[in-house]
Amino acid sequence: MMFSPTLPNSYDARDRASLIHQQTDLKAYRDDGGTLMKRGEGIWVFDESGNRYLEAMAGLWSASLGFSEKRLAEAAYKQMLELPYYHTFFGKGNLPSVDLAEKLLSIAPKPMSKVLFQCSGSEANDAAIKLVWYYHNAIGKPEKKKIIGRVRGYHGNTVASVSASGQPHMHSDFDVPLPMFRHADNPNYYRFHEDGESEEDFSSRMAANLEALILAEGPETVAAFIAEPVQGGGGAITPPAGYFDKIQPILRKYDILFLVDEVICGFGRTGNLWGSETYGLVPDMVSCAKALSASYQPISALMISEPIYEALVSESDKLGSFGHGYTYGGHPVACAVALETLRIYEERDIVGHVRRVSPVMQEGFKALEDHPLVGNARGVGLIAGVELMADKAARQPFDPARKVGTLVQGKCQEVGLIVRAIGDRIAFTPPLIITDDEAAEMCSRFAKGLDAAWSELK
Ligand code: PLP
Repeated sequence: MMFSPTLPNSYDARDRASLIHQQTDLKAYRDDGGTLMKRGEGIWVFDESGNRYLEAMAGLWSASLGFSEKRLAEAAYKQMLELPYYHTFFGKGNLPSVDLAEKLLSIAPKPMSKVLFQCSGSEANDAAIKLVWYYHNAIGKPEKKKIIGRVRGYHGNTVASVSASGQPHMHSDFDVPLPMFRHADNPNYYRFHEDGESEEDFSSRMAANLEALILAEGPETVAAFIAEPVQGGGGAITPPAGYFDKIQPILRKYDILFLVDEVICGFGRTGNLWGSETYGLVPDMVSCAKALSASYQPISALMISEPIYEALVSESDKLGSFGHGYTYGGHPVACAVALETLRIYEERDIVGHVRRVSPVMQEGFKALEDHPLVGNARGVGLIAGVELMADKAARQPFDPARKVGTLVQGKCQEVGLIVRAIGDRIAFTPPLIITDDEAAEMCSRFAKGLDAAWSELK
């Protein structure tokens, strides 16, 4: 699918003349343009020229109910007529935010005390980090300030959440990370295990390295560890066997809070309601967003444990106010849409559906390990990462300058499949409503994209 030549008044021309696209090579975009979507239907989106694409990333790992769920539009409309806006500052609030907070607490992966609503995953994680600092000041441990993220972790783009992220391209020239952030190893077993090292041994090495980092920093200065159950923006990397079982006791040993970023994994993605369930995580705080509202409205939630909440209460009592908030945090329309989303998940047993359909996708990608370009395919539920390799036997990656991932992504788009290349890893997180037939179609289009890329490379 090639783009039609740019007409002076086309959307393409107007877009290039007026917008900055996020996470985009701006010069390439200015020169070549991109793809503007016009409408959606189920798991499919249509660009302005009418080309149809299977959205294998659900947008940004997020449009869990696809692109045409009318009930969510109706929920938004109804709430807009009733009360289109009210904030949660200065002791005021609105009814949908109460209903949603209560609902989230009733389904939290571990008993949680309270919910703070924000507008994006970045803001939820940013708030989590601020609360870590506030909490430690409140309990008289002001020296506990360092936050440990992981290499290739993705927690957002505010100054603090990007500092916790381990994405070099998001740090370069933005003068981040802030000085109190550190990064533990990337847990990509396929790429980084030593010859003969089992997954369990690799996980033990990851845990030992984390403990060594904590000891080198001084445990009395380390406040929190933040992790996604499955690393999304790192390339859809599932944790190796035993990884979190080995990490969590270390956090407890050194009195380090565990912030679990469920922004991608929350609400069924891994085949359980939470990634925390899939991997046995015991968080002190949980952030979620994206599938919370099926991404039809910008909303995120941060759930916090009772001891943290009690510290917030005593500190805000001392200071006279809990000095944090956003105009749109707890927006009634976003909360109403999120509530309707959660109702739909329950009515349609979305978790059960993910469990039933995911083998079609996971086995389809596993079969592609025979393809000359594919080194490894691995995933859980409806999230998977496929790693492209120059020399599979030697586990030798391509020279990054060849941009093989980007080539594959482009070839997939030409056959009507939207995937995301993260370096040379291709990520998949289709809408959770994908059917068996659509999952098979996704795998077969991906195989065509791989073949087209391979015929250019060999
Ligand atoms: N956390 C994770 C795991 C994410 O994948 C993302 C975004 O992709 C974020 C946080 C940031 O969310 P947002 O883009 O809504 O700020």
